[in-house]
Amino acid sequence: MSPSSLERENQELKRTMRLMLSKAERNESILSNFFEVELRLLSCTRLSELLDLILIEFKEYFRLSNVNLILFDPEHAARSLLDSYVPPAPGNTLRFVENQRLLKSIYPNQKMIIGSPSEELSREAFPVSESKVASCALLPLIRENCLIGSLHLGSNDISRYTEHVRYDYIQHLSSVISVCIENCINQENLKRLSSVDMLTKVHNRRSFEQEIVRELSRASRGDYPLTCLFLDLDHFKTVNDTYGHQAGDRVLRTVGMFLNKQLRKTDFIARYGGEEFAILLPNCDQARAESVAETLRSKLSKLIFRDENGHPFRMTTSIGISLCEPSHFSGFDLDKLAYKLIQAADNAVYVSKHEGRDRISFKAFSEPDSEAHQA
Ligand code: GH3
Ligand code: MG
Ligand code: MG
Repeated sequence: MSPSSLERENQELKRTMRLMLSKAERNESILSNFFEVELRLLSCTRLSELLDLILIEFKEYFRLSNVNLILFDPEHAARSLLDSYVPPAPGNTLRFVENQRLLKSIYPNQKMIIGSPSEELSREAFPVSESKVASCALLPLIRENCLIGSLHLGSNDISRYTEHVRYDYIQHLSSVISVCIENCINQENLKRLSSVDMLTKVHNRRSFEQEIVRELSRASRGDYPLTCLFLDLDHFKTVNDTYGHQAGDRVLRTVGMFLNKQLRKTDFIARYGGEEFAILLPNCDQARAESVAETLRSKLSKLIFRDENGHPFRMTTSIGISLCEPSHFSGFDLDKLAYKLIQAADNAVYVSKHEGRDRISFKAFSEPDSEAHQA
């Protein structure tokens, strides 16, 4: 071999080595990014947090032009957890389907799709794309052999996703995402179930007792008052005895829905006992608290209920109001303040009962004993 051909071969070898080295470096960076992303995915406890990670951070992290997600949500289990969640713009980055038709048409064999998408597939996978998706990876999200969703990664670069390259790491990523989505939905629903009263669908007493301490802490930091209302339905035993227990249950359910509709999103409503409801109104002074309580009392007394035979009846409510002013906060233990606030509202209900029911009463907050002062 001549020196010149040896030199050429050497140059060729060096070029191949450089290419291989840069490919190895790229693979290493993809893998290290991937492990980091996997850890982040596994640490998400809320569905909204997981969706932000997938729809916003993935896009930046993996330098993609589009990330879209479809979730199979036949019973609104996911949507019920995402009341106030706003998916990233442009719209349609997150869609829900109630049957499997679309998912099965994208993945007839439940296998991922890699490459340049057809016009039709592009419309389905990236419905509101600002620019044309040159190549994509469409990943079926599968749990126990069932399609639970579809994740679409799109790129402007035609060589980003090509049919001739293996994408084991994305395949693995889609399995991790499937598990994480299912876990977040299950965990959040379980948490919700343990804090909600099954009959009325408002919070239960346990979560009220946790929330009142949290609200006191927020009010203390924000230097605003916290109001507590206690509602006790009048002569409820007679309602049960006269119209039946089922009708009594319907009354409780209706009152729960009524309170949810009447109050603000920031107010906290709970069923405290059998026919007792407790409400927290953050940043609400005595005048407004009395006006809110009076409106509730008046509207509740006008609600018309029906027994099994459709006979109409009404019911009244006694309400107690107590309020913790910012001046009460300094130096007191929040658990003791919460106890005092509940006790004052409860005492105020007894005043309403004593004075003839169907009325509101205010009970001044009595400060915790001096031993409640923290050292
Ligand atoms: P008062 O005006 O003094 O509050 O009289 P009351 O009859 O409302 O009060 P009392 O404490 O004597 O009775 C409460 C009733 O609430 C008795 C109980 O059967 C009824 N109750 C408690 N929980 C439920 C429930 O989940 N469903 C139904 N239908 N009734 C319930
Ligand atoms: Mg009662
Ligand atoms: Mg009662």
